[in-house]
Amino acid sequence: MHAGEDRHGKRVSLTTDIAQTSVFIFPKLDDLRQYSLGKKPGYMYTRYANPTITVAEKKIAALEGAESCVVTASGMAAETILLLSLLRAGDEVVSMLDLYGGTLRLFEQILAKFAVKTTFVPYHELGRIERYFTRKTRVLFLETPTNPTLRCADIAGLSRKAHKRGITVVTDNTFATPILQKPLELGADVVVHSATKYLGGHSDLTAGAIVGPRDLVEPARTVMLQSGGNLDPGASYLLIRGLKTLHLRVERACASAARIAAALGQHPKVLRVLYPGLPGNDGHPIARRQMSAYGMMVSFDIKGGERRAERFIDALQLWYLAPSLGGVESTVSYPVLSSHYGLSKERLKLLDVSAATIRLSVGIENAEDLISDLTQALARA
Ligand code: PLP
Repeated sequence: MHAGEDRHGKRVSLTTDIAQTSVFIFPKLDDLRQYSLGKKPGYMYTRYANPTITVAEKKIAALEGAESCVVTASGMAAETILLLSLLRAGDEVVSMLDLYGGTLRLFEQILAKFAVKTTFVPYHELGRIERYFTRKTRVLFLETPTNPTLRCADIAGLSRKAHKRGITVVTDNTFATPILQKPLELGADVVVHSATKYLGGHSDLTAGAIVGPRDLVEPARTVMLQSGGNLDPGASYLLIRGLKTLHLRVERACASAARIAAALGQHPKVLRVLYPGLPGNDGHPIARRQMSAYGMMVSFDIKGGERRAERFIDALQLWYLAPSLGGVESTVSYPVLSSHYGLSKERLKLLDVSAATIRLSVGIENAEDLISDLTQALARA
């Protein structure tokens, strides 16, 4: 909460000031000279750096236990900027197949145009990851827990195998947040976030973050400022405000998610519950080792497929149908019509997603209220 701020002994606002400016003034030419020579720190132009943005970066670095952070205009901007800084034409990426759809498209539709090839590894093949590495593999990309099936990848084990080959491990820590999982401590080299989700936490901003050691983050910062993917100071303020309550929101939503998963597991209209906290779930043994609790997302398959899923979703009163996650309001999403829309049947099968799959993002409302709304909607489904 306090990282990046220093107010002791100063007559300043308790809250963080928003430096709502695109450019900064230099009192004299020599001040500009000293700044440009790197002899005096300071701020020149918001796309390069801005005091409000710096506070957000320091807070996220502190949360992940990292030396450095650069925040960006969105989670996708963070991924694009980081990958542009790590890769060059001819390099290869090995990535989990279970990925946020936008990330999948970044690899398949954008990086492929610049002669960067990505090999996707189905979840049950992750134990044999070495088979997918080639002499050209530079990056291993992980996302855990995954969207929407909440499978978990073993960050420590996979990082060890990648490091033997000199491969850089990137982990998308959006679903877990640094409160529940610290990929850098587990062995990953660099972390990316969609800060649009839990870090912001109020569904009122779009932001991303790249977090890790200086030698990986600073080259990414250069790509950020050259390509123009910076976060706005106003959005940085909202992000800072969200970060201050991250631990409280996560604690509350995690406790409710565990109760919701248990309640759904008992319901006769629920075919299966996907939640890493449940023994027997794909991700459970790994989540137990690498997460301090099991997260705020719960997915489930409803008996009867799309028609019943539709009746259930339309009967919800408290849960909003909104294809994002991580906000204080609880939301429901239907992957085959949103994050996973347009994927082939074959790919959906590998991802274990079907028309029966419903994803819940648990917010901070009263858990009893959330469960009773799910129960009444299931009764009507
Ligand atoms: N990573 C994950 C796991 C996501 O769920 C998302 C968005 O849904 C992103 C990255 C992309 O983030 P943004 O929408 O902030 O660009």
